Amino acid sequence: MSISNISSSECALCKKKVEVKNLKTIGLIGGMSFESTLEYYKLINETIQEKLGGLHSAKCLMYSVDFEEIEILQHKNKWTELTNIMVDISEKLKHAGADFIVICTNTMHKMAEDIEKRVGIKVLHIAEVTGEKIARKSMKKVGLLGTKFTMEQDFYKKVLKEVFNVEVIIPDENERKTIHEIIYNELCKGIIKRQSKEKYIEIINNLALRGAEGIVLGCTEIPLLIKQEDVKVAIFNTTRIHAVASAEFALKN
Ligand code: GLU
Repeated sequence: MSISNISSSECALCKKKVEVKNLKTIGLIGGMSFESTLEYYKLINETIQEKLGGLHSAKCLMYSVDFEEIEILQHKNKWTELTNIMVDISEKLKHAGADFIVICTNTMHKMAEDIEKRVGIKVLHIAEVTGEKIARKSMKKVGLLGTKFTMEQDFYKKVLKEVFNVEVIIPDENERKTIHEIIYNELCKGIIKRQSKEKYIEIINNLALRGAEGIVLGCTEIPLLIKQEDVKVAIFNTTRIHAVASAEFALKN
């Protein structure tokens, strides 16, 4: 495990004394899909660069999966097999030197607790860092968009409810089906359609009418389609929130 501390050394070019910060090594589990993992990589490095300046960038390892294999297991409800896969990947990242794990998808946080228990490594939880942002805005009720697994199962909503006391509402059944299909058939393949954007906006507006003060874009590809300027209600871009939080965590002592 690397330790975050600051020491100084001489710059080879200008011969000035420069501060060297030992960043924690981030263990990214990516490829779910690679469209959003690209965003993570960029945002994490931009944040480190912004905070430290110079030529600083993130220390990270990435295990990128073949998403087709994962998606088949998800839709067959083979969660035990998926947990074993995620535990195995996390072990590999830990042995390669990762100090903590960042799962670059909301859905696969279903396994976050198992990873922490079985591998003995911290998982920086996407719902926790998102919950902190919601709590900072003193919101009490949010709408959640994501895969049907994230919207319908409890693993994600429970964090917002139990840790942050935030009520979570989800779209109706037909709307959930639309959101889910657009994620897997379009967004995860890098396909961005105007009609899909319009459908999402309509669903977001319905959630706002039902009292949602904010909307959690709880799937890491949705921010590729929906931007804050598209809707009046406040949105929480989980990809950005999680990636920035990962960089900030890597900087902490
Ligand atoms: N990236 C998506 C998410 O944040 C969906 C892909 C997946 O099932 O992991 O949930």
